Amino acid sequence: MQANPDVPADQGTEGPADKFDLHCHSTASDGALSPTEVVWRAAGRGVTVLALTDHDTLAGLDEASIAADEAGVKLVSGVELSCQWQQHTLHIVALNFDRHAVGFVQALEIQAQARSRRASLIDEQLQKKGCPSVLEAAKGLSHDGVPGRPHFARALVEAGAIRTEQQAFKRWLGTGKAGDIQTCWPHLTEVLSHIRLAGGVSVLAHPRKYRMSATRLRALVAEFAAAGGDALEVLTGGQARADTDLLAGLCTKSGLKASTGSDFHRPGQPWTELGSLSPLPASLVPVWKDDFGRRQEAAEQL
Ligand code: AMP
Ligand code: FE
Ligand code: FE
Ligand code: ZN
Repeated sequence: MQANPDVPADQGTEGPADKFDLHCHSTASDGALSPTEVVWRAAGRGVTVLALTDHDTLAGLDEASIAADEAGVKLVSGVELSCQWQQHTLHIVALNFDRHAVGFVQALEIQAQARSRRASLIDEQLQKKGCPSVLEAAKGLSHDGVPGRPHFARALVEAGAIRTEQQAFKRWLGTGKAGDIQTCWPHLTEVLSHIRLAGGVSVLAHPRKYRMSATRLRALVAEFAAAGGDALEVLTGGQARADTDLLAGLCTKSGLKASTGSDFHRPGQPWTELGSLSPLPASLVPVWKDDFGRRQEAAEQL
């Protein structure tokens, strides 16, 4: 993308007409479309700056990058990292990092090992609940043999253990259920430091999806900011207006920037469609300001 001379310097290289979607998934994790399909679908919906943020893997980025060049979309490097804070599993969207930074590559290997270990534990828990073992089937449904809960849900349906994937989450895999293994992921602060060292910025993904009280969320946001976190995902697919207002207020109070992303996984869910979100509240500082703080450049100069 060319620098736009009409844009004030502090707005970065993105023009005022740019449309951002900084959170979505492909078949590299638990999405239904290939990275190429995601990019073209986003382009078709007017997205000009896209981050593909698959769960704990960069496997889709090379393909997405080729498609983005062809589709005329600016692709920002992205990944959604799982981590632990208190008894909660959180998702941190990392953006604009150096994909080849040695420490980051190692951090992703640790995430893959954690995911793999967790998959065995999920399978054990499911069997304790009377399900057949579906570990191999779930591995087969995943891109690189490291399945997540959605792959288990599908495998359970295919094994005839339950009727729908949604029911599998409701009964066995959702928050607080037997297959929701809590102890596998690195701590929030560890993940934030890996992102920072790779020159990236960190976004607390869908902060209202963790089933925590507003009081606890405030404590999380304070700790996230103190540990070097950069932004809150103020807009995510399917979020109520009151939650957006709450998050906008938290950004202002904590001095964090704001991000936006549909969390698209598949077609047929209009509330998480690519490029479907309204603009961020004008009072907030967008995470992309100053070319994402030019963090990556700074890291490269170290
Ligand atoms: P994992 O990374 O393996 O913990 O899986 C998390 C993913 O599972 C989320 O990103 C969603 O795509 C999906 N997910 C989580 N909760 C539910 C739910 N209640 N119903 C359907 N999908 C869900
Ligand atoms: Fe997902
Ligand atoms: Fe998430
Ligand atoms: Zn996501």
